[in-house]
Amino acid sequence: MKLLLTFSRKGEHDPGREPVIARVVKETGVLINVEKANIDSMAGEVLVDVPDGDADLIQRRFEEMGVSVRAVVDAIIRDEEECVDCGACISVCPQEVFSFDPEWRLCVNAERCVLCGRCIQACPHGALSQQE
Ligand code: SF4
Ligand code: SF4
Repeated sequence: MKLLLTFSRKGEHDPGREPVIARVVKETGVLINVEKANIDSMAGEVLVDVPDGDADLIQRRFEEMGVSVRAVVDAIIRDEEECVDCGACISVCPQEVFSFDPEWRLCVNAERCVLCGRCIQACPHGALSQQE
């Protein structure tokens, strides 16, 4: 399962200078795969992938350390009414989320998405959006 971690060095979500991901891995023994990180000195977002069976434990432990955690279920959403199966999203996605079926209809494997946003920019019909 993918979890979106939000750090802030201001306000209620302030983990200070703790190496929170390393600490959670060490304490729980669960391996955490970092898929995307966008962090500066004041705040940041990190998308991690953890085994489904460990997700509750990992989420709880991060929250105890002051990190805001959101489970990302359907990371990318396609409006089937708007999609024209043009394939523009296939060519820009670095994670191979999109593919065509034998009838050239678009298939979406949202579990692979890392929320880079490229497909949303590329879609000529505004058919794609990210989970809020
Ligand atoms: S947001 Fe990025 S990774 Fe996710 S489906 Fe779109 S292009 Fe692929
Ligand atoms: S780019 Fe948009 S319209 Fe084209 S296949 Fe992808 S979702 Fe459908």
